[in-house]
Amino acid sequence: MISEHSPLFLYNTLHGGVQRFETIYPRRVKMFVCGPTVQDYLHLGHGRTYVFYDVLARLLTHMGYRVNFIMNITDVDDKVVEAAGRAKRDFWVFVDHYTRAFIQDMKALGVTTVRRYERASGYIQEMLFQISSLIEKGHAYVSEGDVYFDVSSYPYYGQLSKQGMSELMLRPIEMSSKKRSQVDFALWRSMPPEGCDPCWDSPWGKGRPGWHIEDTAITVSNFGPQYDIHGGGYELVYPHHEAEIAQAESFTGVRPFVRYWVHTGMLTVGGKKMSKSEGNLIYLKDGLRKYGVNTLRWYFMKTHYRSDVSFDEKDVELCAGEVEDLISRASKIRERVHRRLKPDITSEVASRFREALTRDLDTPRALASLKRLAADSSNQKPGLYLNQVCRLVLAAEEILGLSLDG
Ligand SMILES: [Zn+2]
Repeated sequence: MISEHSPLFLYNTLHGGVQRFETIYPRRVKMFVCGPTVQDYLHLGHGRTYVFYDVLARLLTHMGYRVNFIMNITDVDDKVVEAAGRAKRDFWVFVDHYTRAFIQDMKALGVTTVRRYERASGYIQEMLFQISSLIEKGHAYVSEGDVYFDVSSYPYYGQLSKQGMSELMLRPIEMSSKKRSQVDFALWRSMPPEGCDPCWDSPWGKGRPGWHIEDTAITVSNFGPQYDIHGGGYELVYPHHEAEIAQAESFTGVRPFVRYWVHTGMLTVGGKKMSKSEGNLIYLKDGLRKYGVNTLRWYFMKTHYRSDVSFDEKDVELCAGEVEDLISRASKIRERVHRRLKPDITSEVASRFREALTRDLDTPRALASLKRLAADSSNQKPGLYLNQVCRLVLAAEEILGLSLDG
């Protein structure tokens, strides 16, 4: 148990700085991360984000916490409906195909910590209940069959993205004559009969939920009014996460909805975000086939999670060499240790590795210290020191999700 000796520090977007991590319930972590919109296969940018949260959950588990990690799957969205239409596929067949592919890719990427994947389409009743309640409480209004969240009813709007109302007014998220104010966002959208595949009945007519309410329906149902960590790429801070806070806190009356907002940087190609709309995708499954899971995870962890990474194939190739070198040194260490050992990062030998990870998950520094230690130790004679190095290597495998057994 290392958490008593080395507490974890995390950068919290809500606070705007690094904070000591303290859970709501002792030794239990409730964690939610925004999952994919299932309209295509995962790309390397998704892979980078999900590997980071996997490492965070693995570290917390290693520190003795019970981690309840839920990820949502956005299967109800205009983008998915349009993509299924373009592919001339039945909507649900299309969605099932990409949902299965997503779960397969996550397995192949070694993401083992997500306890449950929750599909938005499984929570329509909860969404309807939350929306109705927001209307009753005066936080939402009906307009021509749509329902919008009334931002003026929630005084903390802008707290996560650090924007005042005048700045927010300059960034309307979607112009519509149905809204009282352009910063208001949709909770429910009515659909014409010809656009109703899929559609759900609601007190305001047939339609589909807004994107932001999907996550609050899933998290409030599973975690209650408050939980520990919410993650996602930093491009989701506004409006997605800002809207989530406003909805949840207005619905439950409990603040803060989430204690730690943890956001990852982007993977870019030639200065642009890797995304379907930019047309610069490298699919994760192709990356895994080409480089293997060890190399890809190493590559993702070589940059701090809050920094952007500019994708360059040469950097990935460099990582392949580094992983191979570490594997061969790690197997030499294992050969010299004659007992079966347990993973451990509490020893003096592991201090740099441990400190790097517990200081806002500094994986680049953790990898560097692991590499250096393995290089210095591979020819050492058996003894306490080598046992400790070996136990660190075993722990590193567990926490970083690497397989270092050559
Ligand atoms: Zn989300």
